[in-house]
Amino acid sequence: NHLAQTLRLASVGRESTAFSTDPATGEVTSYGTLWQNAERVAAALIGLGVEPGDRVALQAEKSLGVLELYLGTMLAGAIHLPLNTAYTAAEVGYFLSDASPRIFVCDPARQEELAEVVKAANVQTVLTLDANGNGSLRDKASDAGPILSAVARGADDLAAFLYTSGTTGRSKGAMLTHGNLASNADTLRDLWQFTKDDVLIHALPLFHTHGLFVAINVTMVAGGAIRLHRAFNPDAILADFDCGTALMGVPTFYTRLLGHKGLSKESVGKMRLFISGSAPMLTETHHDWQARTCHTVLERYGMTETCMNTSNPYDGTRKAGTVGLPLDGVEMRIATPEGVVLPQGEIGGIEVRGENVFKGYWNMPEKTAEELRPDGWFITGDIGQIDEDGYLTIVGRSKDLIISGGYNIYPKEIESIIDQVAGVVESAAYGIPHADFGESVAVAVVRETGSTLTDEDILEAISGDLARFKLPRKIFFLDELPRNTMGKVQKNVLRSTGGAPSQ
Ligand code: ATP
Ligand code: MG
Repeated sequence: NHLAQTLRLASVGRESTAFSTDPATGEVTSYGTLWQNAERVAAALIGLGVEPGDRVALQAEKSLGVLELYLGTMLAGAIHLPLNTAYTAAEVGYFLSDASPRIFVCDPARQEELAEVVKAANVQTVLTLDANGNGSLRDKASDAGPILSAVARGADDLAAFLYTSGTTGRSKGAMLTHGNLASNADTLRDLWQFTKDDVLIHALPLFHTHGLFVAINVTMVAGGAIRLHRAFNPDAILADFDCGTALMGVPTFYTRLLGHKGLSKESVGKMRLFISGSAPMLTETHHDWQARTCHTVLERYGMTETCMNTSNPYDGTRKAGTVGLPLDGVEMRIATPEGVVLPQGEIGGIEVRGENVFKGYWNMPEKTAEELRPDGWFITGDIGQIDEDGYLTIVGRSKDLIISGGYNIYPKEIESIIDQVAGVVESAAYGIPHADFGESVAVAVVRETGSTLTDEDILEAISGDLARFKLPRKIFFLDELPRNTMGKVQKNVLRSTGGAPSQ
């Protein structure tokens, strides 16, 4: 159950087959080269004193080198700890002090700027890795002979620390085991029918659960190949539909592709599967995609702490606006904050249990105790509802729940009604302080270009559909909703600026 060994086994006999192709340069890397490089990285890390359980942190541009480091770190028995490339020096400093890695790998262009925080965090060794895979990490790796076998690790040993996206507060370091990652990869490969013939179009970051553990692990455990895009560029993605078979994306990928005139039934070539996750996909996007391409997006739901929890079926109905059914081996329930299980159909906290659930938050025993019940149920922090067929719909996050005059108001209910108003592209509902009611509803709305819709128009359009206490007291118009790298709407940003444009 050593993840790197599992992935490696899946590639046995495929040493000369392509693992990755860089669509920009056409450069192909075989499975054999990938593993040789990863083994050398492992040897270099061990040579630098890395021991089982040590963290190897990195903040580096997306490249194959990052994947070689990921695999090499696990082969060395150490813990992979990737950081968002957008983090500032101060943020990197926080994570390094929190996680105290043995080694930190960074972009050579940032080495000087980061020197101070690296020193303050007492990191012993700093190596560099640039967007082309060059730097002192590669130098050390080429000097090292490959290691002969992976350092033994069990299912319960840590493979990675992944910081959560920080959508609802400060990012937390989720401790993930080899068992968590390996079991989820196997389950998703089987469910989504990934095989060695698959070519995944990869345009997600490699520091997040979606782009790393879902995209890379699932493809590798099937022995498939990837097209490694440095960033999301609709032209380049569309061009890849000729040779790719699957795309994993955040909803913004799909809305941006829909905005491209080249997208059509003919343009999707050999593609067999379009997967979406990390943030809710609008029902409208789902339908538009179906109409334009004759493919139905498969939406799934997961998080840093648990990998994937639910997915719409591969064969069977993919229901728009839902995130599907619990994965094999994942138990799911809707419960009150006290842990009382609610009857089917009621709205409440989503809890999950299974091999996929992490070990806890690094350095945060209280937070772990608050969210991980002693009997293994993890309180996801999302609120949802299960329909009569067992499909889960997420109605918001518990932190975004609006409580007004003692009533619970679920943002999604308001958003889905406002989104249907002619002239509205999308909306985000959130609570703002209210002297009498505790909170009242505010909504940030993005209008279609040229639309002259006013707040009165919106109120008039929705007043028949929503109880009075749910009606927004404030409607703000924004050019776009504030989103983080994973396309998640940052309601804390809306709350802190009161929704008013921040300029
Ligand atoms: P933080 O925990 O630091 O506030 P975060 O929860 O955004 O940040 P992630 O672990 O990256 O960090 O994201 C997981 C969350 O993303 C889920 O809890 C859920 O709210 C949301 N999410 C993931 N997939 C979907 C989906 N298909 N539909 C709706 N929400 C989704
Ligand atoms: Mg979270």
